[in-house]
Amino acid sequence: MVCFVLDPEFKDLAAKASVPAQALENYTESGLPDAAAALCFLIATRDAAKALDLARRLRAGTDPGLKPIYLLSPLGASVEQLCDGVVATPAEAWDKALGTTRLFSELDPAGLADSRNDVYRLLGFLYARPDYTLVPSGTWQAEKIYTYPLAEALLEQADDTIATLVQRKLLAPTQLVDRLRHCPKCDGPHLNYIDTCPNCAGIDIAQKPFLHCFTCGHVSPEERFFSQDKLVCPQCATALRHIGADYDRPLENFQCNGCGHVFVDPQVTARCLHCHQVSAPDALIARPVQAFKLTDQGRLSARTGDVEDVFSMLDSLNNVSRAYFESILDWLLALCRRHKEEQFSLVAVRIANVVELTDRIGRAQVRSLMDEFVRRVRELIRTTDLTTRTSQHTLWLLLPKTHAAGQQTVRERIMGLRSGDDSGLRLVTVGFHAPSQMIAGERAKMLLARLEGEIGE
Ligand SMILES: [Zn+2]
Ligand SMILES: [Zn+2]
Ligand SMILES: [Zn+2]
Repeated sequence: MVCFVLDPEFKDLAAKASVPAQALENYTESGLPDAAAALCFLIATRDAAKALDLARRLRAGTDPGLKPIYLLSPLGASVEQLCDGVVATPAEAWDKALGTTRLFSELDPAGLADSRNDVYRLLGFLYARPDYTLVPSGTWQAEKIYTYPLAEALLEQADDTIATLVQRKLLAPTQLVDRLRHCPKCDGPHLNYIDTCPNCAGIDIAQKPFLHCFTCGHVSPEERFFSQDKLVCPQCATALRHIGADYDRPLENFQCNGCGHVFVDPQVTARCLHCHQVSAPDALIARPVQAFKLTDQGRLSARTGDVEDVFSMLDSLNNVSRAYFESILDWLLALCRRHKEEQFSLVAVRIANVVELTDRIGRAQVRSLMDEFVRRVRELIRTTDLTTRTSQHTLWLLLPKTHAAGQQTVRERIMGLRSGDDSGLRLVTVGFHAPSQMIAGERAKMLLARLEGEIGE
């Protein structure tokens, strides 16, 4: 049914609706409407503040949060970006909501109902609304200036969730909305740009017309050249009659009231209004503000359910955190630079088709393939080998004291875990051996990023 949340003036509309409807008048007192039975919500009020409050509370709920919410009249961007549009009649809301609900029925209901699963809930929300764009909205009151109101209303951790989905290429930017500069110390975007004296860094500077005496080369503010209504150089006392012949206007036209320094261009500095750090403009971090849409990969990923749990099966290997893995790798690289005989190898394994495979053969089947894969990899690695998993779903094996040929063998054995046809996991591997493939000065972070690039999508 269409669940109305309305002001008394719209009472008739609910009563005469041609579709199943339930009207709620005092929602503020009775709490939120019972969402389970509602196909969608229709907010019938002319009060934008009231509508905004209600839309926020509906979006924050686990069950009602993902359902379509319509308005009966346009109430401004802040309300509308949380809703699914304006409709003229309850019947129109009903028709539109049926389409959205049909798309929801293609998704994993357990994932959608899990209030802690921000990633899947946002994927699901977007999946059921193919034309929806996550648009950032900027306001000076917001600590980060730009927020994504829909994501903020729907999720616990909106920023992290969007970043994760972008990194996994499930969301792609559709439009560059703005570019902000952030403080390099605290990442705050509220900055005050101020012109300062390049000599003493004081802010008390003034722009003045200047003159330049050709006879002695003196440069000073114009006011110092006035002497009984004539222009006379304050240094050499020459009377200046003809511009271009006796004097001209130099480029310098700023003077510091603090130290007297005369200059052409003031120095611009940025003072952070969050932490008071003063930075040169080129030290600030520029970051784009973008609108995002679900990608084809994102649509597929929504339909197959959250595959994170499948990948997390890899964590039962000799897994350590990424940070620890990097620090050990850095240590091994440094050791190997000093003592060439301290060789080691690194192998990256990417399972390229988990999402597609889940779509094709189902989650249970993929889990058992993954289980088998993990069991076989465990047999391959020694207790001294370390593994980690990055957010890109790449499995890393760090093999101390392993020469290039040994590394090749490990890779071949891993590739041997594939099934011959395309019914199994599709594996891609890349290897690195130190010292033979070491690049001067390359650190662990860079090395991992480079290999991750080589191993591809
Ligand atoms: Zn100065
Ligand atoms: Zn002079
Ligand atoms: Zn700061």
